[in-house]
Amino acid sequence: MNLAGPMPTPYIPAMATTIFTKKPPGVTDPTEPALNSPPTELQTAFVKKPKLTGSKKKKRDIPEGLWTKCPKCETMLFDKELDANLKVCDKCAHHFSIGARERIHSLVETCSFEEMDAQMISVDVLGFTGAASYKDKLASNWKKTNLKDAVITGIGKIGPHRAGLGVMDFSFLGGSMGSVVGEKLVRLIERSTEKNLPIIIISTSGGARMYEGMFSLMQMAKTCAALAYHARARLPYISVLTNPDYAGVMASYASVGDLILAEPGAFIGFAGPRVIKDTTQADLPPGFQTAEFLLDHGLIDAIVPRKEMKARLIGYLDFLTVRQNNSAAATA
Ligand SMILES: [Zn+2]
Repeated sequence: MNLAGPMPTPYIPAMATTIFTKKPPGVTDPTEPALNSPPTELQTAFVKKPKLTGSKKKKRDIPEGLWTKCPKCETMLFDKELDANLKVCDKCAHHFSIGARERIHSLVETCSFEEMDAQMISVDVLGFTGAASYKDKLASNWKKTNLKDAVITGIGKIGPHRAGLGVMDFSFLGGSMGSVVGEKLVRLIERSTEKNLPIIIISTSGGARMYEGMFSLMQMAKTCAALAYHARARLPYISVLTNPDYAGVMASYASVGDLILAEPGAFIGFAGPRVIKDTTQADLPPGFQTAEFLLDHGLIDAIVPRKEMKARLIGYLDFLTVRQNNSAAATA
């Protein structure tokens, strides 16, 4: 005990001193093995590996943005190969979500796509504020996705057929249907009706856009009314459902196609399975709300893998536009 100091030294048990005493840097405990002697086998087994500090170290091991793990078969897929394969796992054929622009590129003939209303943007009509304001959400999504809204519309050539094409993008606010999605689709449908063109809408959506309240729900009736005029002109409409496709979109234009196609494994429904389970208090059948389940139950007409989509669409359009082609030939 050091009596010379102004404060009495507290009692520390011998064991605790050996464990907790902090040694000044550079001082080695003689009981410790010399640092320069090679560790024994037992020591190596218990040596704690240095912790990875920060994300930079992790990046060096598995560079981000180069590899993607397939959620179905857990294979690590090289991003460039995944992109070249239209975002489909080449091991298990899992269909990853794909951006609207990439999808359009995979379907239309080069340089044939004329985009419509590319600059149309949503406005915050309700002054919506929640965890984040609608204005902030829009601004961050414009920046993040490089898209103006959740759908791209235009007229392009698919094989020999000119067709109105509307493609949704889930990365923009969950592909939610607001006034802009509805308006862009209606303009596309009306233009196609005017020009006697078939329509293909490829949808993926979480449903109506909550930030726009009733205005988003109105888009359901608006798009269906435009499609009714298109159908009255006896023009074909092909709806393609991709993962996920839910709620307001599924309850309106996505489910009224003359032909309804879906990508393999896509989740399609109105309310989510948890809500249905809670409401009905019944166990849901296996595969509930998948494209395969819905094909068995007659809601959709065919499941088409992404890589076959273009060829299949051309085939269906050949068949569905026979009458138009015949009447055009007769008047010529
Ligand atoms: Zn896979």
